[in-house]
Amino acid sequence: MIIAILKEPKDPRVAMVPKTVQRLTKAGHTVWVESGAGDTAYLSDAAFQEAGAETHARTDILKSAEVLFSIQAPSPEELQLCQTGATLIFAESAVDDPEIQRVAEEKGLTGFTLYNLPRTTRAQAMDILSSMASIAGYRSVLVAAAKLPRYFPLLMTAAGTIPPARVLVLGAGVAGLQAIATARRLGARVEAFDVRKATREEVESLGAKFVDVPGSDDDQTSGYAKEQSKAYLERQRETILTHISQADVVITTAQVRGRKAPILVDEEALNAMKPGSVIVDLAASTGGNCVRTKDQETVVYNGVQIIGDSSLAANMPMDASQLLSSNLNQFLSLLINKEGELHLNWEDEILEATCFTRKKITA
Ligand code: NAD
Repeated sequence: MIIAILKEPKDPRVAMVPKTVQRLTKAGHTVWVESGAGDTAYLSDAAFQEAGAETHARTDILKSAEVLFSIQAPSPEELQLCQTGATLIFAESAVDDPEIQRVAEEKGLTGFTLYNLPRTTRAQAMDILSSMASIAGYRSVLVAAAKLPRYFPLLMTAAGTIPPARVLVLGAGVAGLQAIATARRLGARVEAFDVRKATREEVESLGAKFVDVPGSDDDQTSGYAKEQSKAYLERQRETILTHISQADVVITTAQVRGRKAPILVDEEALNAMKPGSVIVDLAASTGGNCVRTKDQETVVYNGVQIIGDSSLAANMPMDASQLLSSNLNQFLSLLINKEGELHLNWEDEILEATCFTRKKITA
């Protein structure tokens, strides 16, 4: 069976790293990697070859792969080159483009996207969203610290005392908790807020103060937050306004699955912020938590820098690729039986949830 890995045209990460490739080749699989696939993650073709892979041109990879890995889906034109019955495994959402869906169906391909992974304990080791959110949370604080015209830690010097920076984290999920931990390590005073009540304990265990806004609609079944009522969002807005006005750095990470991100920093909150303060908005790709966020841009408003960056994880390609690779390999192990052959068990809820197109079985 040829397991193949494509180079990402618009992303410095690569779906599999040599360490994972070595595991696959040792288990007897043939692994093909597109030439130059790891270049931007500092992983050379030679490193993949040492791990037992062959490197090939993109067209040959697309034509020969029986299992094809990539982070983003290739174009519909490229998918036309795939052999009938091939299995595609994408790290990110592939279903946004109906053309990909159409071509995959027409060609009899079976496709999975880990974007739709269920939030269950069993699926945790494959959870690319958590892996990437964790990197984004960590990097958001480093970006903020580099842009802030102040120190993060308390400093007592002969020239006087510098108080610690105040960091407010809105949304204490995977990214938010990592941001809290990183900001604490840098010595900042950290406050955090989330609509899910379970986060209070996690926030406090990291040494941050939890900002309380009672009365949220907290559905604990899916792992994702629910969209909140207008009345709740208004109460939340009023409560966090004071905290925003005192903050030097605001990291926003609040997302609601499948919906536009809630606005948590509106015009009034922005006007109350101190000049020189910094917002890093991790919800930028879904509309942003700050009313003036623009994805992939830094907007300066009244001396406040608003950084909208949805590529923080991609821009740490070495470790991001390592984590993706491990997540994808865990997923692959679900699809392969003891004899090393593809065996898709459609009773498995993980396969069912992640499949976006399935080869039609003809009698
Ligand atoms: P996410 O990226 O969807 O959202 C980020 C955070 O924003 C969440 O904590 C959410 O509660 C919060 N939020 C939403 N609306 C808000 C609002 N109006 N104000 C303030 N905060 C708001 O979520 P995530 O970070 O990926 O994960 C959330 C939870 O799911 C975490 O507890 C995580 O541990 C859990 N999780 C479990 C699994 C698993 O079991 N396989 C996998 C991933 C995440």
